[in-house]
Amino acid sequence: LNYLKQLKEAGIHFDGNQEKAVVSTEGPLLILAGAGSGKTRVLTARTAFMIEEKKIDPGSIMLVTFTAKAAAEMKKRIGLYPGMSPAKVNQLIAGTFHSIFYRILCFHERETWSSDKLMKKEWQREQILKEAGRKLQLDDKEFAYDLALQQIGLWKNTMVMPHEVKPESPWEEKVALLYKDYEAAKDKQNLFDFDDMLLGCYKLFKEKPEILKNYQNRFHYFLIDEFQDINKVQYELMKMLSDKHGNVCAVGDDDQSIYSFRGSDPAYLFKFKTDFQHTNLIILNQNYRSPHEIVETANTLISANLTRHEKEMRAQFSGECPPIIFHPYDEEEEATMILTDIKERIEHGERPGDFTILFRTNAASRAVFERLANSSLPFRLDQDIESFYERFMVKGMLAFLRLSMNPDDPEAIKNILPSLFLKQSVFRDLQANSILNDCSMLEALTHVKTGFAFQEQKLKKLIPIVRSLSSLSPITAIDIVEKDLGYQDFIKKRGNEGNQLEKGSDDIRDLKVAARNFKSVKEFLEHADHMAAMNLEIKRSSRNLTDAITLSTIHRSKGLEYRNVYITGTVDGSLPHEYALDAYRNGDLQPLEEERRLLYVAVTRAEKNLFISVPQRRRGRKANPSRFLSNIKRKMPNQDLGI
Ligand code: ATP
Ligand code: MG
Repeated sequence: LNYLKQLKEAGIHFDGNQEKAVVSTEGPLLILAGAGSGKTRVLTARTAFMIEEKKIDPGSIMLVTFTAKAAAEMKKRIGLYPGMSPAKVNQLIAGTFHSIFYRILCFHERETWSSDKLMKKEWQREQILKEAGRKLQLDDKEFAYDLALQQIGLWKNTMVMPHEVKPESPWEEKVALLYKDYEAAKDKQNLFDFDDMLLGCYKLFKEKPEILKNYQNRFHYFLIDEFQDINKVQYELMKMLSDKHGNVCAVGDDDQSIYSFRGSDPAYLFKFKTDFQHTNLIILNQNYRSPHEIVETANTLISANLTRHEKEMRAQFSGECPPIIFHPYDEEEEATMILTDIKERIEHGERPGDFTILFRTNAASRAVFERLANSSLPFRLDQDIESFYERFMVKGMLAFLRLSMNPDDPEAIKNILPSLFLKQSVFRDLQANSILNDCSMLEALTHVKTGFAFQEQKLKKLIPIVRSLSSLSPITAIDIVEKDLGYQDFIKKRGNEGNQLEKGSDDIRDLKVAARNFKSVKEFLEHADHMAAMNLEIKRSSRNLTDAITLSTIHRSKGLEYRNVYITGTVDGSLPHEYALDAYRNGDLQPLEEERRLLYVAVTRAEKNLFISVPQRRRGRKANPSRFLSNIKRKMPNQDLGI
């Protein structure tokens, strides 16, 4: 085992089980292990070992992960092992399921799968869905198409075809009808979406066994990281391809399964053992990432879950770093405290790249983002983090405030239409009307004929109210739109469709917290525009920034590690999310357990310091500390230090 020696000489060590995993290259292998136990490291070293020690052709090895970022990171890591060269790394077939299978599809059916036919953007898919919706007479902006898309994706990833759907609610019934139309429209226009890539490849292999055979002969080895995130179609593809050689190495942690809403199912981790005969099982239980106290916290936390496979991690490092829980007054103070702490640590020699700030949902990042945007600290936004002020309900609300300043703002006119229950086509009527009657677009609302006298009456009454908003404080203005202009009813109506993860009513409460800092509507709108522009600018300019604070959702932080981790908003309603608490009240424990896994993922990112922020108020209301903390508090000394 020359290569292991070389690795050792290069300072790369493995414990007993890790070493076993690195050198067991033949046959099915399942590596089951907790966070930070070296799973990814073993996978990369194993790849290098196969190439260097076993002289296996890199072109016969397929290496799969779940994000492009993780795939790039893996290739980079592999390239750093002794003997490896960029040429060898580039021969590996490494990437996400989508990227690998898309390449295969393009090779065989170039015409059908040419990239200009891919619907890359969510809005493209939404457009098709909306057209289908119109046929079903669903109201254009009122129906939660984003959620419908998510549901359709879930069906596709679990290989439930349109005619096989068994709707479980009236809402799903509607979505099932949309699903049929969506697929038909897509086929007719020769378009495809991301989910089609996997299904398309599955179909190709089924229909043309000779092609499948070709790939079965070509790929001798499969390595798959984060296996707990695999969904049905991915699992089936992998099973088909590896049927000949059977050398599949699956690596995962059922406690980190956090994508069930996309059809991921950790059950495949355990099905693996039955589907692949003579599977070799290796369990890693040493944690090399975090200090002892953090590992203990993670253990205690996750052991409260009922559906999991028992495994206990032991920390390799002792440290004097118990997690620190702090209790800011609200989101604003939370942001201030975190940034003050980061600044102080940077002054003491730490690098911006040593820090990450994690959020349960992307909307929750507003306060921290605004503080950072006004500071000189370099930071990076995860793709998931959109601008708060671009959110659907927020945009709709701000549109009224904008019209009070400029009654001809075309974007704002478009954005108020949904909440007035008017179709987007009314926009053109308003334009024409404002020219015809020589009035503003806002005033042109008086002339809209909806066919309902009460609605037309309401539109007439609305105009002076909108005009008056500009002289009020932003908070009062928002209140008036909510109560007097029917925005609250609109949110209620739209919020009832499906189980929205980020509710419109929450966004508006967030907006009010933000508005408190401003005296005039004008100032507040300028701030909102500035922040939306900054969001785009930061995303663009920080792409190549290596040394920067990372703002990320917990979901996107999986697999990564940082010296200092700040978990924000650790209160009931946020983490666990309200939707999981609702499910729990209705007797469904699963969503709550997934929320606990999320906190587990967040906690286990820390290499040195972990800060858990438990604000006393959230969205303008009193908040209770996350129920998950009660399991772990007992184990910690009283850490109400504040920072
Ligand atoms: P996650 O579940 O979060 O994806 P993981 O199991 O993939 O975690 P890695 O990211 O591979 O864990 O490893 C965690 C950290 O521990 C890395 O910094 C890695 O370099 C280090 N590490 C792993 N094994 C060892 C070892 N035997 N000796 C020293 N450091 C190690
Ligand atoms: Mg990993």
